[in-house]
Amino acid sequence: MLVRASLGTLAVLGLERARLAARPTTAYLLQYSPWGCTARCMFCSQSVLAKTPRRLLGRVTWPVVELEKLLRAWRRGLFARVCLQTVLRPGFACEAAELLEQLRRVDPDTPASVTTTPVETWVLREWRRLGVDTLGVGLDAASPRVFREAGKPYTWDTYIGFIRRAISVYGRGRVYAHLVAGLGETPREMLEAMKTLYAMGARVALFNYTRLPGSPRDFPGVDTATYRVYQVARLLLEHGLDPLDYIDPGPPPQFTRRPPLDPRRGLLTSGCPGCNRPFYNEPPRGPIYNYPSAELLRRDREAVEKQLEEIGLGEGE
Ligand code: SF4
Repeated sequence: MLVRASLGTLAVLGLERARLAARPTTAYLLQYSPWGCTARCMFCSQSVLAKTPRRLLGRVTWPVVELEKLLRAWRRGLFARVCLQTVLRPGFACEAAELLEQLRRVDPDTPASVTTTPVETWVLREWRRLGVDTLGVGLDAASPRVFREAGKPYTWDTYIGFIRRAISVYGRGRVYAHLVAGLGETPREMLEAMKTLYAMGARVALFNYTRLPGSPRDFPGVDTATYRVYQVARLLLEHGLDPLDYIDPGPPPQFTRRPPLDPRRGLLTSGCPGCNRPFYNEPPRGPIYNYPSAELLRRDREAVEKQLEEIGLGEGE
């Protein structure tokens, strides 16, 4: 079986040479498909509409590798987690199960995540049996309007219903909805979407929109200040707090009250335990939207303080 793996993952396994500014703590795999994904998302480089080379997703290169070769290089303990990103095409769910089955022969323990479009409940159960303890759902858009404009497959309601169903299989707090900032949502839409997802028992993994040449359409993106507001809002929800008690959504969104936690913690990559997605949305020289390590966050302390000041979270405020 062929699979794609992120360059960083292959470097950790010793299958590629690359200088890593941050080591991936999760092994990132992407389902192989010669035509990419049959969905027509307008922002995605894997979409059937995209002219982008299929080895690119986000800012990351994903070379093709034989699964057997990858598993021969696999060492238990190298990664905290393995994440398999699926693409929509015939037979993808069963192929994902087969891949997990082969992984389990060499490593029965490392927790796994699968990122998926809506699938049937028996598939969710089968993946769980194969050691998937956390599910990623590429909701991507922050509102039904953005969902339609971005050309997502199915409907918003189908995705929300699927997230509910996934929670009933994996449990509360074990389903991460991926949300992409910068697809034309308003800050209020983003904050409301995050609130709705947490209220349902899901969690959020935040991504920054990355434009690749050849993608079907350009979207506006967001500046770092707006992204910092979303990151701190997500951190508040993780702690059971309502971001709208602290944030005026604007635009531009601004903190009107200081929250009772260190906002810097929100700037680290969000997602499944052990997921740091180094430089998925940005070049290592910055600006960095999702910090893959506390060390890099410390390196950029001054720039980060300025960004936090801009949103009303300066040290003296
Ligand atoms: S949050 Fe990270 S590990 Fe979890 S599904 Fe998304 S990319 Fe994979």
